[in-house]
Amino acid sequence: MTLKAPYDPDNIFARILRGEIPSVKVWEDDHILAFMDVFPQSEGHVLLISKISTARTLLEIEPDALARLTEATRRTARAVDKALQPDGFQIMQFNGEAGGQTVFHLHFHIVPRWTDRQMKGHGHAPMADAETLRALADRIAAALD
Ligand code: 5GP
Repeated sequence: MTLKAPYDPDNIFARILRGEIPSVKVWEDDHILAFMDVFPQSEGHVLLISKISTARTLLEIEPDALARLTEATRRTARAVDKALQPDGFQIMQFNGEAGGQTVFHLHFHIVPRWTDRQMKGHGHAPMADAETLRALADRIAAALD
């Protein structure tokens, strides 16, 4: 997938937004969905997407949608910090296949990090079970401001 291509309405996140594929939601409003990454690189790996924008990458996203997404990422990262108390966290955002992107609906990753735990590689993490993700999502949601 190149950096510049038409938006595929059947990409995995579009299908999650339409309810065609299940996801473990942390929170949502009219503009944003925060949900658990099903192949988490660390415990508490959350993804954030715009429900409105069909931007594939950072190059395409409308300023208003980006502002909402970054604020949602900040708000959710605060809840991850409060709920899981990591030693640090990474915000990741990949663009284009050569840039490591695998799902072409723009998204931000929140990946909590602990000094004594190895993070799994991007695209190399095993699938987590839904119950474990639900319990983490509930803890993070309960810590939202
Ligand atoms: P990217 O590589 O595009 O930056 O990130 C895509 C992310 O989506 C990856 O971290 C991957 O684990 C996650 N992912 C892929 N398929 C699914 C899915 O069906 N459900 C969820 N919740 N996450 C997915």
